[in-house]
Amino acid sequence: MNIQIQVKKTIKKYKLINKKDKIVVALSGGKDSTAVAYLLHKLGYNIMGFHINLGLRNYSERCEKVVKKLCGVLEIPLHIYDFKKEQGSSMCYLRSAIQTKKNLKNCAICGVIKKYIINKEVRKLKADKIVTGHHLDDEAQTFFLNILKGAPQLSANTGPITRNIKDKKFITRIKPLFYILEKDIKEFAKKHKLPVVYDSCPCALDSYRIQIRKLFNTLSDQEKRNIVKNFDKVKHKIKKPNQKMSYCSICGEPARKNICKRCELVRLK
Ligand code: AMP
Ligand code: ZN
Repeated sequence: MNIQIQVKKTIKKYKLINKKDKIVVALSGGKDSTAVAYLLHKLGYNIMGFHINLGLRNYSERCEKVVKKLCGVLEIPLHIYDFKKEQGSSMCYLRSAIQTKKNLKNCAICGVIKKYIINKEVRKLKADKIVTGHHLDDEAQTFFLNILKGAPQLSANTGPITRNIKDKKFITRIKPLFYILEKDIKEFAKKHKLPVVYDSCPCALDSYRIQIRKLFNTLSDQEKRNIVKNFDKVKHKIKKPNQKMSYCSICGEPARKNICKRCELVRLK
């Protein structure tokens, strides 16, 4: 089945998008988010792009360039968040400052901060949904990682749409590529000559996920599909963590504790 049909099916089955929805695609410049924007546009959805330039020199410049190119070709509006300008330093600098106080992997810090910015900035655009490029390999790895961490409950609410958090400050996130293999997305991006930066982020070093990714490279496509399929079967049985949302006492953004994950990190620096 081609991936356009699969994406259409996922959108329909999980009611990811309503006709009136204002949709913003979080575009990194990588193949996954580029492909999902391209597909949604092809399927006739009205989309906008949102990109964070993380200030990682040459890499970030190349990412911004391909994102601009994509939005130009698709003729869709693009909002760029200049991390360095808004935060006063690059993502790298902020991350290093946090790491002098707490032993955390690069991607763990960057991931929290990116998610925070995306939710906050996309909300300002009055969007109903945020689209990300997460695919089947990402989801199978996350599920596996949470089991290895001894915390399968962290996966309890995972799915192509975040239905668990109902809060006016939290924008629903959707993952139309949830059931698509990474290798099929790569093939699609190459076939359609999409403007993409194929090399991975220069800061993505030594994360737990990278180790898991190596392990996953030894699995077959069917084995990866089975992980997600079986997970779908059992996830309703996993005891869900307390999802009560409140607001961060420092920044006012949605938080599960008194202080949000981003402020917990940033106040360390
Ligand atoms: P990652 O955590 O880097 O695997 O990215 C997961 C998803 O987050 C991507 O598929 C994008 O939708 C989004 N994303 C990652 N980096 C950026 C960025 N710099 N700007 C906007 N969206 C991003
Ligand atoms: Zn906060």
